[in-house]
Amino acid sequence: MRIVILSLLISIYYGNLAAQETNNSGLKLYTFDCGELTFSEMDLFSTAGDYAGTTATFSDSCFLIRHKDGDLLWDLGLNVELIKEGPVQSGITTVSLNKSLVQQLEEIDLIPDDIEFVSISHSDYDHVLQNPSFPNATWIVNEKELSAMKKDGELAGMYSGFKNMKRIVFNGDYDVFGDGTVMILQTPGHTPGHTVLQVMLKETGPILLSGDLYHQAKSRELKRVPRFNYDEAQTRQSFERFEKIAAELDAKVIIQHESTDIEALPKLPNYLQ
Ligand SMILES: [Zn+2]
Repeated sequence: MRIVILSLLISIYYGNLAAQETNNSGLKLYTFDCGELTFSEMDLFSTAGDYAGTTATFSDSCFLIRHKDGDLLWDLGLNVELIKEGPVQSGITTVSLNKSLVQQLEEIDLIPDDIEFVSISHSDYDHVLQNPSFPNATWIVNEKELSAMKKDGELAGMYSGFKNMKRIVFNGDYDVFGDGTVMILQTPGHTPGHTVLQVMLKETGPILLSGDLYHQAKSRELKRVPRFNYDEAQTRQSFERFEKIAAELDAKVIIQHESTDIEALPKLPNYLQ
């Protein structure tokens, strides 16, 4: 009898372990180069006034999460016209792009129609502009961000490509594949519906992709809030939420515009798993 109970307990234990492992087994995170932004004056990026007179270069990064039940593209980068045009300057900002998302997908033998889901951390131009490349994907979008993107009730201009995509609109957090491995977490303040992405990789462990909650490692360290944020108090609440989750999970935080963070990640065709 004792042996029967013991083997039953062992099979339940290993059954649970196996279920957890199959959820994130094969889960992969690829990093894509979505361009570069340089700022000749950084004052806008700190309400404390301590960035005045400094300059900075930001990576613009996008990510592909491959899950056994589908592929999710996180953020859609700068516009493909920049590849031909070369760097374009406007005011304090210069933007450039070397390769499109479609070209980078090709490097890992994928085409846009292979991508089931796209989602954006938020709707600023440097996170959305390749939306016309994915007409057949399903767009997973925070309800408040969607409202902020609409002008006269319509998605227009740089958001036009989103207009005819199939759409999943959510409030709060969103579990992309229903198994807790890929979670979109609401962290409003930079914009009304800003979000970050939590990915539970099997070997690397938990990852948090920052969106623009923080733009640089030093803005995380110093808890600096850009002057152009939608709501500073809300941003600070989101800092707290994010740091609590990062600490609880002992997660690796990737600041999407921090070139030190991005350069440390595997280059295509390599990935984290
Ligand atoms: Zn950005």
